[in-house]
Amino acid sequence: MITIIINITLALQMDGKYKDGYREQGARKALVEELRKKGIEDENVLKAIAKVPRHYFFEDTFLNQAYKDIAFQIGEGQTISQPYTVAYQTQLLHIHRDDKVLEIGTGSGYQTCILAEMGAKVYTIERIEKLYLQAATLLPKMGYKARFFCGDGSKGIAKRAPYDKIIVTAGAPTVPDELIKQLNIGGILVIPVGDQKSQKMVTVLKTSETAYEKIVLDTFRFVPLLGDKAW
Ligand code: SAH
Repeated sequence: MITIIINITLALQMDGKYKDGYREQGARKALVEELRKKGIEDENVLKAIAKVPRHYFFEDTFLNQAYKDIAFQIGEGQTISQPYTVAYQTQLLHIHRDDKVLEIGTGSGYQTCILAEMGAKVYTIERIEKLYLQAATLLPKMGYKARFFCGDGSKGIAKRAPYDKIIVTAGAPTVPDELIKQLNIGGILVIPVGDQKSQKMVTVLKTSETAYEKIVLDTFRFVPLLGDKAW
């Protein structure tokens, strides 16, 4: 029994990329301070960013890019969102422990980890099978639980609704009605809306079965939300 445990520990240590030492933790602290200066105020969001090893989502050659406040290619023409963008969207969601959250656009799974770290029960959907598989394999290894789906999330996931919060991490041409329908009353949707070059961050607060309040915020640039209710 003891031998088995030692072997597992050695195996993890040998895989250099999954090492989270003082250097990586220090880099995350610096990133958190940078985000604070850029206006992120939600301490729970900042705590989650300080905790989740973003370098696990990078290929070995690009590890030195992991704690810069930039988006980065993750293959399949997609990107891991910029830390500022992840923090900005997450802050708008006002996450509480045990919130049921739908994330549309799993991508790398980094945003999924931030939500899970904050205690949310995350349902996440990705249309590219390879990315879906990568995230569904990596996150449990990192100790994060989420429910992973592969398919077109532009219509939400009706059979798992309602959700307390919905976050869309790709740029949409409009706010799909289906997503508002799948929110609980009091629920919040955060979605970038615009053309394929730039989008405004939009939050929708569902105030009753038939009414909602919409707020249009800052400009961002996301990869497009593709699908039935999107581009
Ligand atoms: N939150 C992610 C962002 C990834 S980029 C991260 O931090 O890594 C956005 C992702 O949305 C891409 O992986 C893209 O494939 C996916 N996407 C685009 N349209 C989609 C759709 N209709 N349903 C599900 N995923 C979609």
